[in-house]
Amino acid sequence: MNKKEALKIYHDHIERIKAYHLVLATADFDSSTIAPKKGSAYRNRMLSIVQGEAFPIQTDPVLVEAIDYLNSIELDEKTKREISLAKKDIEEMLCFTKEEVMEFALVQMNAHDAWLEAKQKNDYSIFEPHLLRLIELTKQRTLKKKPDAKVYDTLLDDYQEGMNMKKYDAFFKMIRKELVPLIRKVGKKQDLIDDSFIFRHYPIEKQERFSKDLQKYLGFDGSWGYMGVSEHPFTNAFSRNDVRITTNYDEYNVIGSIYSIIHETGHAFYEHQLDPAYDSYMKLSDMSSGMHESQSRFLENYLGRRKAFFTTLYPKLQKLFPENLGDVTLDAFSKAVNVSRCSLIRTDADELTYPVHILIRYEIEKMIFNDEIDLHDLPEIWNQKYKEYLGVDVPDEASGILQDIHWSLAYFGYFPTYALGSAIGAQIFHQMNKEMDVDGCLARGDFKALTGYLKQHIQKYGNLYDYDTILRNATGEPFDPRYYTDYLKDKYRKLYEL
Ligand code: ZN
Repeated sequence: MNKKEALKIYHDHIERIKAYHLVLATADFDSSTIAPKKGSAYRNRMLSIVQGEAFPIQTDPVLVEAIDYLNSIELDEKTKREISLAKKDIEEMLCFTKEEVMEFALVQMNAHDAWLEAKQKNDYSIFEPHLLRLIELTKQRTLKKKPDAKVYDTLLDDYQEGMNMKKYDAFFKMIRKELVPLIRKVGKKQDLIDDSFIFRHYPIEKQERFSKDLQKYLGFDGSWGYMGVSEHPFTNAFSRNDVRITTNYDEYNVIGSIYSIIHETGHAFYEHQLDPAYDSYMKLSDMSSGMHESQSRFLENYLGRRKAFFTTLYPKLQKLFPENLGDVTLDAFSKAVNVSRCSLIRTDADELTYPVHILIRYEIEKMIFNDEIDLHDLPEIWNQKYKEYLGVDVPDEASGILQDIHWSLAYFGYFPTYALGSAIGAQIFHQMNKEMDVDGCLARGDFKALTGYLKQHIQKYGNLYDYDTILRNATGEPFDPRYYTDYLKDKYRKLYEL
């Protein structure tokens, strides 16, 4: 085999694998948005077959041979990174049989359906057997992949290359020490900011009209992006020029959908602004979860919660809802979207309490995978931690243990990347402010200048480097979570006059 032949084999195979990915992603988007619920058992069965069909291509001995060969010779930087990541993937894949892959896919899809039903009926007992089975299978599968490593360390590394419990322990210790005392102080000044007008009645058809203005402002363009509606907002990139996002409207919360759209648009830009040269690769466009969240939370919080963000948008919102917002000033509105309140639901949490929700999930997942608890106690442990860290009583299972989608998809180890991504975003934001007039761009409606900056310094690289290298290149420093805690302390002390 020579280099040319090996590369041809590699590229031929990944084209076929990507074709399966496209089919599965399309079906997944369809299932989560418009597909009737009663058809899900049939869909799940068929899709696990499709997943099984991809397996012989993904593990073809000819492909293994080509990857091994390429891994042993000199390659350019991009191909070298691609092949080393592909080798890691294929080695993990070879730990399983086709039947095991299909079975896991089916268990996963059925667990997801059970979770949806359990959440709607506020009944954890519907989901519990599925969750316990997913945990058991995840433990078995992870140990098969890396028998000598701790299960949770392997899971953390799956979502964020190079991360483990030791590093996250240090990170979350700092979050706890720096932020929990401030959260308590803010809690004592709850009357300072009025945000009651956010929760008045906002008919959905009018919210949809505002979504169009918002997308236009953000530059989320129908020529490469599409937005649907789903129970839980998400982003699914079929390719660089076909990125799907979703939102969810709440008649009694005008900012819920707004921030979902901004967040998912952040993910969408990351996929869309990749170097076009990556189209012929697979792993270079498979960014880590922490980096992805750094971009979505960047738009959502570091840009989207600034007063200047609403300079041109807020008059449009007021015009749509004069009875609710006619007498609310821009200043009052921008304070209201930053109110910090200890609450039950992670996805609605403000910037300050948000990482504490993640800390809670991290501690629970650590206990699960280090075998430190009886799994039947999970709902109770969840409730205890919410009381301990956020001082709130969980009234029911739907707003407690059933609130998040991740466990139903066996995404164990994903949560910590939300907090890590927020911290990465803070460091990038600090640097961006040194180089450009962020508020000026926002107020002028020149959002393109800001997404252009992210493209230039972060997004075009995709997964070519790990997060620490990307940060060093973009900011001149390695990852430093101080930027995150300093940003939050500064912002909330000012906002709450502390
Ligand atoms: Zn996200």
